[in-house]
Amino acid sequence: MTSKELKDAAKKFGADLIGIAAVGNLNDLCKEDNPLSIFPQAANVIVIGRKIPRGALRGCEQGTELNNTFTNFGFMSLEDNLLAKTTYDTVIWMESHGFEAVPLFGYDCTGQPVGVPVSPGKPAPNVILQYRLMAQAAGLGETALNGLFITPEFGPRQRFAMLLTDAGLESDRPFVPHLCNDCGQCIRACPLQALEAEKAVPFGLKGFERNVAARRNELCLRCRNGAVQTNEGRFNAVERVAAACGRACIAALEERGATLEKFSTPFRSGTKQWSCNLLGERI
Ligand code: SF4
Ligand code: SF4
Repeated sequence: MTSKELKDAAKKFGADLIGIAAVGNLNDLCKEDNPLSIFPQAANVIVIGRKIPRGALRGCEQGTELNNTFTNFGFMSLEDNLLAKTTYDTVIWMESHGFEAVPLFGYDCTGQPVGVPVSPGKPAPNVILQYRLMAQAAGLGETALNGLFITPEFGPRQRFAMLLTDAGLESDRPFVPHLCNDCGQCIRACPLQALEAEKAVPFGLKGFERNVAARRNELCLRCRNGAVQTNEGRFNAVERVAAACGRACIAALEERGATLEKFSTPFRSGTKQWSCNLLGERI
């Protein structure tokens, strides 16, 4: 099985993005974040993405809904059904070629212990991989100033899953950040001033970091501008692609022609996008 054969198969199963990270580029990760903690024989991390339709964000952008369409077609249904099917089909295809593939969702959280290590030296469960680091190591994109992962194809519009495999595949080169130009549109778009660019810190794969703004999560947890507040099943994370900070980035990237997918209708009409404050008042 070659990398090309694998990528062709994954695309046939519905993948819009696929990259391969060599575990050798992940040596600096702590055991709580390291794929080798889950599968010590892994040679590569395969990262699969399916795109979020731009149309799934229209209701949020026009202010005709809170986030219902996005939640279905851009988040949970996309992740739990479509991406899961693509991932499952790819796993089965790989295992039919004699290679194990451990499927993992790209959940937006850091590892949060829920138990105790099963033996000395082992990390406590859950070990949850940081998909942004895996996707950058697989050459797919970078973490932008607003903290969202952006790709040359779709900007912030995709969801990721990962496969840990013992297949010795030719890997992709890590992504060198260059898409986010620190334009600040995301910072200005946040009606709650939750993003603090002046407190930005380097984030990314070691050797390929760029500055990411500090974020006041307690404000995002109350955001009513397209953000989706999840329950414990998704670690109470705030999904932000459809929020004001994510939509501003989509518009900014498209306006300067930085994303490969093109549309005949501009994402933003020039009018101020809908947003509201913590009291739900339109601002
Ligand atoms: S809006 Fe501009 S500064 Fe913010 S993440 Fe996007 S490209 Fe970077
Ligand atoms: S989710 Fe809402 S509050 Fe948080 S940074 Fe984005 S726009 Fe601001």
